[in-house]
Amino acid sequence: MQAIGTQDPSDDVVVLTSTTPGRRQKLVALAVVPGVLATLFAITRPFADLQLPAVPAFVPIETSALFVIDLVTAVIFFCQFSILRNRALLLIASGYLYAALILIPYLLAFPGLFVTDRALVGGLQTTAWLFILKHSGFAASIVGFALLSRNAKAAPRPGGVHLPLLLSIMATCGFVAFIGFACIAGDAHLPSVASDGRRFSAQFLIYAGAPRALLYGLAVILLWPQRNTVLGLWLMVVAAVHLAAIPISFFGSPSRFSVGWYTVVIINLVANSLVLAVLLVEVSNLYRRLLQAVRAQEREREARLATGEALAAMIAHELKQPLSAMIWRAGLGFRRLDRSVPDLENAMSDMRRISADGHRAAAVIENIRANFKRDQRVRTAVDLNRLVRETASLLRRELHKQHVRLEMTLAADPASVAADRTQLQQVLLNLMTNAAEATAADDAPRILVVRTENHGRDELSVSVSDNGTGVRPEHLEQVFNPLFTTKPTGMGMGLSICRSIIEAHGGRIWVSPNSPKGTVFTFALKALTAP
Ligand code: ADP
Repeated sequence: MQAIGTQDPSDDVVVLTSTTPGRRQKLVALAVVPGVLATLFAITRPFADLQLPAVPAFVPIETSALFVIDLVTAVIFFCQFSILRNRALLLIASGYLYAALILIPYLLAFPGLFVTDRALVGGLQTTAWLFILKHSGFAASIVGFALLSRNAKAAPRPGGVHLPLLLSIMATCGFVAFIGFACIAGDAHLPSVASDGRRFSAQFLIYAGAPRALLYGLAVILLWPQRNTVLGLWLMVVAAVHLAAIPISFFGSPSRFSVGWYTVVIINLVANSLVLAVLLVEVSNLYRRLLQAVRAQEREREARLATGEALAAMIAHELKQPLSAMIWRAGLGFRRLDRSVPDLENAMSDMRRISADGHRAAAVIENIRANFKRDQRVRTAVDLNRLVRETASLLRRELHKQHVRLEMTLAADPASVAADRTQLQQVLLNLMTNAAEATAADDAPRILVVRTENHGRDELSVSVSDNGTGVRPEHLEQVFNPLFTTKPTGMGMGLSICRSIIEAHGGRIWVSPNSPKGTVFTFALKALTAP
């Protein structure tokens, strides 16, 4: 996975604004929102003209809320642009910034708000025209977004993001300052749309209605094909909600503080909050996905480490025995040669044994490699009785040193299986070494019994029993798990290797308590039937 900082901007998974909306989101956008609007429409229609008291705090509160909502939305879009370098995002970000900033002169020029019966700045027409220009500019930015984002899959534009970002912000601020100044200073020259501080003239219908209806209508049409992206869908809904608010503004004789006016103001507020709400939900979804990805990455790394650890442990475990035998035998050989009369004959025999141990180590490495490559190893007929005897002779010195008495009870009949000889010997060595170690805890005579049994014609088993500490009942399920060990210097790989070898041969291996104490490990394999 890529680091977050180097995320490919075209990667859909983390691109907030190009994610596909879910079914529920589409339902809310295309059914619930129109439904709520239609209900509002039906309820307010008969009372649209009704004049309500002019609540003095309403306008500044509503305008401030809208200012914050538009500004935060603009900031999120600017951030998105800095990741995606998509011009459509820069345009819509500027549109939201424009809609936010224009509210400053709008509020200052609102009649009767700061100074009784007149505007603080500008004149009677200023606020109404700022309202018209706010909507026209905002709607134009949605249309621009729809046109620019039609080629959504286009590669992000090369080059830096800071300059276009800075230029857009400066251009938007400059444009708002110009419009604000023009509406405030040029109030007397503006076409009359407001009759007094409350009522609008008939011309308001043309100036406020026509451009808004045209631009928001166009935006809805252009965005309809893009309804399969979260941003396309919700900007279309915003445009549609603003479009639907136009007729409500013109019910009866439009005037401020009427039921129709309050309704439109609230619709505006809700419409502009929609995209912000969706963006926030998408940001938290994105955060959740990111967290999941990071956790998955952690788990993958742990699994990789565990595999590496298991491999290292397996190699160390399997090579320990032949290597220590070689070291011991080499020391013995040196001592035989380092005499006044060198014992050449026995030294030669030591060399032969060292060579045999070296070959065994090489075979073990080859086996491990084959295990990981999932090779089919060459199987030959292996006489289990003979294998047990040979393995016992390999361990004789070690068992003798540990004062362990080895008893062998071998099946009378021939006991052959088709198997990889080295692998089966590995299993026996592991089981016998473990059994010897388990008997080390107390002073009682230490006894290890290896038994081969012929179960009818089909199955042969080999069991290794000891009278040691035994496996604790709660560990019975775990002893075959890789890296499970109760020994301070144990690796926990021996039994896991035994199980994978026996299962690869189509057999079974299990553990059971010995009587009166100790443990019995048994493996069973399909008998090789005589041809
Ligand atoms: P290791 O010997 O490195 O611990 P193994 O996979 O060979 O790894 O054994 C796993 C665990 O199974 C041992 O730590 C021990 O607790 C238990 N175990 C294996 N063989 C015996 C046994 N003969 N008697 C008692 N416990 C045993």
